[in-house]
Amino acid sequence: MEQLPAADALSYVGQDADSAWSTYLKQVDRVTPYLGHLSKWIDSLKRPKRTLIVDVPIEMDDGSVRHFEGYRVQHSLSRGPGKGGIRFHPQVTLDEVMALSAWMTIKTAAVGLPFGGAKGGIRVDPKQLSQGELERMTRRYTSEIGVIIGPQRDIPAPDVNTNGQIMAWMMDTYSMNTGATATGVVTGKPVHLGGSLGRVKATGRGVFVTGTEAARRIGLDIVGARVAVQGLGNVGGTAAELFTHAGSVVVAVQDHTGTVFAPEGFNIEQALAIVQREGGIAGYAKLPGAERVDNERFWDADVDILIPAALEGQIDEARARRIRAKLVLEGANGPTLSGADDVLAERGVMVVPDVICNAGGVTVSYFEWVQDFSSFFWTEDEINARLEKIMREAFVHIWNTAAQHRVSLRTATFIVACERILMARAERGIYP
Ligand code: GLU
Repeated sequence: MEQLPAADALSYVGQDADSAWSTYLKQVDRVTPYLGHLSKWIDSLKRPKRTLIVDVPIEMDDGSVRHFEGYRVQHSLSRGPGKGGIRFHPQVTLDEVMALSAWMTIKTAAVGLPFGGAKGGIRVDPKQLSQGELERMTRRYTSEIGVIIGPQRDIPAPDVNTNGQIMAWMMDTYSMNTGATATGVVTGKPVHLGGSLGRVKATGRGVFVTGTEAARRIGLDIVGARVAVQGLGNVGGTAAELFTHAGSVVVAVQDHTGTVFAPEGFNIEQALAIVQREGGIAGYAKLPGAERVDNERFWDADVDILIPAALEGQIDEARARRIRAKLVLEGANGPTLSGADDVLAERGVMVVPDVICNAGGVTVSYFEWVQDFSSFFWTEDEINARLEKIMREAFVHIWNTAAQHRVSLRTATFIVACERILMARAERGIYP
């Protein structure tokens, strides 16, 4: 007979030790010894509060009907409404969405935003859909998860392969279903629809701010620093741009179309234009001073700073042994496996973890949400100044916590965040 999971283990996730949810659970286990009396509540972080799986049927342009698998997971609502992006990707699974929702819980608490954590996704390759099919799928998915989202309940946002247009359709669908325009139901909207200035670049800007703070503390001059970036999308592209403007040199870029080295440095504006036009970096290799290399060589790149800004699970133990960077800035969510974290720590590589490094996006999402319900909009300078202040202060607090307990920045971020979440959990108590 098939082995059933232990009674206290969740029956609806697999036991793969390298899955995103398993990685998250190991991160929680590491922090538990530091939580004192609050550790009594730790199990509430090891299971999502609410998990919704929906069927998303749409009529395709050719008249056939296709079904997609959709999710919205609310990991924790202890500190406020759910918050977190929506991902469209063929490899989306429940396990992954659960982990991403949990990392949102940690992230919002780490920067002190009044939100819990949530995440959603559809198992689909959106590049295979026409614009009409994409819109119908987005709208049907929004209707299906409409029973649990709302401006005071759970607020989606963009993530991998979703953008302002998709947020506009989500906002419109929710508004049509509820009978009133509800701009605050999603963030990352176009600016003339209640979106916030600065939101698109906010995640990359946060990577740059936390990265500069970390670099200064380990004595790494970012002027002249050599940088490798995985994923030149919204997050990696902006981070690469900001580091380049600050005097760093991007010498290696990898994305789903290939890996390109440019030992004298990429022309970042040109690289971003190619990615925009051709959907990936591969074409840059045709330019003088650039060469296409085998994908695995990306991890051997001779750099000072490595920015994984694509998908999770990229840095395993073997790659962690090869990384030559002194500083890893996790623009992506969950790029480093737990075992690899230990290898990097042993080798003296400083990792600024996702849950603080890429929190700039959700921070400006918070500003957007506040601007929407107060119907009063801020200037881009105000937004960037507030973003930088919040990120810098959160980073300093985490850095000091790491020094105090002699732990990694990841464990320190979890200590800060879990204390806040579990304090709220304990104060609210169990209902009824
Ligand atoms: N998807 C982004 C993240 O992973 C932003 C979420 C949000 O703005 O709610 O942090």
